[in-house]
Amino acid sequence: MYILETDGLTKEYSHVKVVDGVSLKVEQGDIYGFVGKNGAGKTTFIRMVLGLTRITDGSFKLFEGESLKTAKKRVGSLIESPALFKNMTAQQNLDVYCTMLGVDKKTIPAILETVGLSDTGRKKAGDFSLGMKQRLGIGLALVGNPDFLILDEPINGLDPTGIVDIREMLLRLKEQGKTIFISSHILGELEKMATRYGIVSNGKLVEEISAKELAEKCGSRTVIKVSDTVKASSIILKFLEGSTDNLECEKNSVFIKAKIENIGELTNALFNAGIVVSGITTDENSAERYFINKMEG
Ligand code: ATP
Repeated sequence: MYILETDGLTKEYSHVKVVDGVSLKVEQGDIYGFVGKNGAGKTTFIRMVLGLTRITDGSFKLFEGESLKTAKKRVGSLIESPALFKNMTAQQNLDVYCTMLGVDKKTIPAILETVGLSDTGRKKAGDFSLGMKQRLGIGLALVGNPDFLILDEPINGLDPTGIVDIREMLLRLKEQGKTIFISSHILGELEKMATRYGIVSNGKLVEEISAKELAEKCGSRTVIKVSDTVKASSIILKFLEGSTDNLECEKNSVFIKAKIENIGELTNALFNAGIVVSGITTDENSAERYFINKMEG
């Protein structure tokens, strides 16, 4: 089931398309990483989906076309920095939000627990660290127990501990069955949680790719130049426990996509079989480089 489907979503400001025909699909259970440089159009895209800015062209569906009025009740969001009452505690902020949305306040302790703010007591939100503020912002997005969370740059500006806290929390929320759409330009962090990515550049969606496909494309490869690729492959296969999936040959090189624990043993085995090895290199094609290439267009 698709939680969000957009079809050619476009936004123009003064005749400039800052979001340009974006069609993407977020499946139930996804942590969808929406990746792009500053100014790529991520926030504008999110604002259109949340009904916070008018759409110039295109359309979108939430929950397979459920009426927008009811669908919106199933969506929680956090856009950039959260709007908090600085002179109120976490509990009081949530209290106000529950009143605004007509939601039972009994849910507040569970939300505080989820976002790791149960023991902040009388501390005012204005005195929170940036990470705590972001977590409270996500707590506010959780009021009403939404099925779909849309988070715009929730880890922007956080220190490494703050980032880990948010990541672990989002993974827990996914386990609870929530679908999450998260925009970010911190690629390394998204990589640790996203199940699917949409890469935007200059307002356009340049690629949609699953985490699995990305791992296949970007895992590091060992490249061995040999005198006889057929003979070498049969020896290398033994080191890969017989799986041919991770082995490719091209001209006089064998590409190994899996990690080989003992490369020394492998070169010895090749040498003993009379194969001349003229080079071994690791061809790192990390996800980060992949994203950057795509984002640069
Ligand atoms: P960031 O990570 O910096 O927030 P972003 O990918 O979210 O970047 P947007 O904030 O969506 O990008 O901005 C996309 C482009 O649209 C930018 O060039 C921005 O200046 C422009 N823009 C956004 N809002 C408006 C507006 N209200 N009026 C005119 N231009 C706007």
